[in-house]
Amino acid sequence: MNTTTSVAELLALGDEELFARAQADRADLPQFTWSPNLINPACRTDPRCEHCKWECFKTEQQMFEARRPIDQILAQAEVQVSMGVKRILMPSGWLGYHLPSYFFASVRAVKERFDVEVFGLSGAIDRESLAGLKDAGMGGYWCGLESINEEIYRRFRPGGDTLADRLETIANVQDLGLKLQSGFVLGFGLPEADVIASLELLAGMELNSLVIQPFIPFPHTGMAAEDPVNPHYWARVVAAAGIYLPKVNVIITEADGPHANFATLTGANVWPTFPKLFAGGNQQPESTGLTLPKAG
Ligand code: SF4
Repeated sequence: MNTTTSVAELLALGDEELFARAQADRADLPQFTWSPNLINPACRTDPRCEHCKWECFKTEQQMFEARRPIDQILAQAEVQVSMGVKRILMPSGWLGYHLPSYFFASVRAVKERFDVEVFGLSGAIDRESLAGLKDAGMGGYWCGLESINEEIYRRFRPGGDTLADRLETIANVQDLGLKLQSGFVLGFGLPEADVIASLELLAGMELNSLVIQPFIPFPHTGMAAEDPVNPHYWARVVAAAGIYLPKVNVIITEADGPHANFATLTGANVWPTFPKLFAGGNQQPESTGLTLPKAG
């Protein structure tokens, strides 16, 4: 944690100084790519999150509905590894606090076949499930705070797990020695004081990777009419966070669009690659993704 400059001071810097400092301070971090490989996009959150882009995908893609067989996961992992992906994220919708055993089998199958780091993302889950994922070879877990502002949290996420559940999961991730990826969603008018408090809370964790997801509205969702977070403001917050947490990987989630256009300013070092999906769940090694900046 950088104790010499507060988040508030960083957020007060002009663009040129903020972005130049974020890039210079973080120039030695390794640059690498991450890519998602879904275990199960089904979700038991009820009512569904108002901002859920997966709900949009489910409306538009029949295949984005059910548990994926292990051979399909392995075929996708093979494409991802051949593309140089270093970290595969194996997410699911929230399926409750206890994961089904096929999650462990899916992770184990990928780890047995490929030399790649695997992270999970299934919302707040219990310690036993985290331990099962670790035993299967998972190296880290992404459990976002979503929003420390509970009024905003429940506005975009009226059902499902709570902020307290997520903090408990984060504590278990750290206690079990899994790498922790966390962060929050920027948008919905989150006050700057909450941005600062979120980063101060995250600075007290053993954080491996930080994600500040920009809120982007999607059709077929409850927040389709809500404004996206301004990309320039989002980039400034990511840059300030990266200076404040100089040893922590900063992950970009958007491969294209207005926020991706600003991403290389931020000093981030982990970049998304999304193999194109076709009906039936096959992939080809053509991707959408940001160009990986040169290391150092
Ligand atoms: S937890 Fe919310 S955002 Fe995640 S898949 Fe379920 S409804 Fe969508």
